[in-house]
Formats: sequence, structure tokens, C-alpha cells
Amino acid sequence: MSTVTAGTPATDPWLAQTVRIAGITDEIEGVATYHLDFADASAAGSFSFRPGQFNMLYLPGVGEAAISISSDPLLHGTLDHTVRIAGQVTTELARAGVGATFGLRGPFGSSWPIDECLEGDVILVTGGIGLAPLRPAIYELLNRRTEFGNVTLLYGARHPFGLLYSAEYDDWQANGVDVNTTVDRASPAWQGNVGVVTQLLDRMPVADPERTSVLCCGPEVMMWYTARSALGRGIPKERIWISLERNMNCAIGLCGHCQFGPTFVCKDGPVVRYDRVSQYLRVEGF
Ligand SMILES: Cc1cc2nc3c(=O)[nH]c(=O)nc-3n(C[C@H](O)[C@H](O)[C@H](O)COP(=O)(O)OP(=O)(O)OC[C@H]3O[C@@H](n4cnc5c(N)ncnc54)[C@H](O)[C@@H]3O)c2cc1C
Repeated sequence: MSTVTAGTPATDPWLAQTVRIAGITDEIEGVATYHLDFADASAAGSFSFRPGQFNMLYLPGVGEAAISISSDPLLHGTLDHTVRIAGQVTTELARAGVGATFGLRGPFGSSWPIDECLEGDVILVTGGIGLAPLRPAIYELLNRRTEFGNVTLLYGARHPFGLLYSAEYDDWQANGVDVNTTVDRASPAWQGNVGVVTQLLDRMPVADPERTSVLCCGPEVMMWYTARSALGRGIPKERIWISLERNMNCAIGLCGHCQFGPTFVCKDGPVVRYDRVSQYLRVEGF
């Protein structure tokens, strides 16, 4: 009898399970969240994931794309993926309606180090659609809220209409996540911060840097500046984690498409400790 560990595919990792779109939430322009059900009840029962992991969504005749899981890891039965229209697979997905079926392989990859954040403060720094892979981490921190110190979300978007999941912020704030947003360009109605998200990190108090963890997802240049700011505030390099993104094909470390220095983003990442990849982030062309 085989044992299924949380966060590893329950079946052959090449085998796609059939999923059905149970609902679609339009988030911001060009971005929607797909709520997926498994066609096979036993597949639904054996599927579990950890925050930060991703699935390969397979549209027959079109291709496959790596998409992070954006739902609460405690919710079983329905799985969310928040998708921005980029190329072939995501465009075709955007044309699919409720009831459409396609394939899903996963879950793959590493996860946010929630247990390493225990008892300390946690700062989540993200931009744009980078909040999608961090949303399951926010849910897990909320589900286990008493086990952590201060939890702060610093989230930036180009403009106010680019902020994902804004309907949830009040709930997150009320349950112990300090939500701070900023935009590059304000609209006339915007009353909040203007400027890049790293400025929020530069300005916020960090009471106990040695026990503070930073979880960051966004464009590489943003993650580089975030890490620089965090290090400048005295947060140890071992406590800074980022999520990498690369075009990938197999998702199990065989094809080499997503190789990043000695790291395969699909199996060693996407979540990696910053100091293990920082030298590659600074190489021009990466
Ligand atoms: C771990 C991981 C998690 C991810 N999570 C999410 C998520 O939650 N939501 C989300 O929306 N996206 C996510 N992505 C990004 C997503 O996988 C890519 O955008 C994917 O390429 C979309 O597939 P597609 O077929 O629609 O686009 P593609 O056809 O792959 O095209 C995407 C873009 O890349 C360009 N492109 C494609 N191939 C090449 C190439 N060989 N050379 C140069 N340019 C190329 C295209 O012109 C286009 O602009 C994630 C990626 C990774 C690795």
C-alpha cells in the first residue's frame, strides 16, 4: 500500500486528473479565480497541498501551464487557481465557462516555511498577482493565528484596480493580519499609500528582527529590493523566503526548462530561501 504525503501527487505525477470549473470569480482586469472540483471523488479525497505549491493545468490540444494554488489548504473539495491571461493556455482557460473540464497534475514544489515562522513575527511582501501563491499562507497563518507574533501583509499594485482579493482585506485585518496596501499610481478616490511596496517595508517597525520572517513573491527585482531592505533591518538571511517563477514543462525536475543555477524551480522551488539563490537573482538577463 502506498502512503500519500500531504503536498505530493497521490498518483503518477504525469497523470492528469479531470477537474471541472465549478465557479469563476473575476478579480481584476485579465485575472480570474477558477474554483475547481475533481470529477473523481476519490481524487478529491486524496488531494492535499501546502501553501505555495502549484499545479500543472492541462488543456488538451493547447498545452499545460504551472499555476499556484490560491485557496485555503484546509478546504477540501474545491481548489482555487487565480490566473492572469498570458499566453495560449491561460487565454483558452479564460474562454472556458462554468462546467468546462480539463486536466490537473499536482501538487508540485516546495511550500512556504510556516512552521519555521512559529512564535515570531511574519511579514508577507508581494506585488500584483504575486498575492495568489501567498493567499494560502495567509489562510494558514489565520487558521493557526495564536502560534505566531505579528503578521503583516505589505501588498503593492500598479493602480488601485490592480489589487487582488480586496473584498477579503477587512476579514484578514479583523482576524489578526495587518493589511497594508500601496499603489504606483493613485486614482482620484485612492486615500492610501502611493509608492513601491518596499517603501512600506523600509518604514514599518521591526521590533525583533532575529525572530522575524519575510515571505516574498513578486517580480525578481522587487524580491531583490525586499531582501535588501529586510537585511538592512537586521532580519537574518536564513529568514527571508521568495517564490521563483520560470517557464516549466515536466514539473518534476526532469526536463530542465526551469533550471535556475543549480536549482530546479519545479522541484527545489518555487519557494526557496533567499540566500540560496541570491547570486543568480543579480545576474543580468535572469
Ligand atoms: C511555480 C509557478 C507558479 C505560477 N503561478 C501562477 C499563478 O498563480 N497565476 C498565473 O496567472 N500565472 C502563474 N504562473 C505563470 C504561468 O505559469 C505562465 O504565465 C504560463 O506561461 C502561462 O501559460 P500560457 O500557455 O498561457 O502562456 P505561454 O504561452 O507560456 O506565454 C506566456 C508569456 O510568455 C511568453 N513566452 C512563452 N514561451 C516563451 C519562450 N519560450 N520565450 C520567450 N517568451 C515566451 C509568451 O509570449 C507570453 O508573453 C506560475 C508560474 C510558475 C513557474
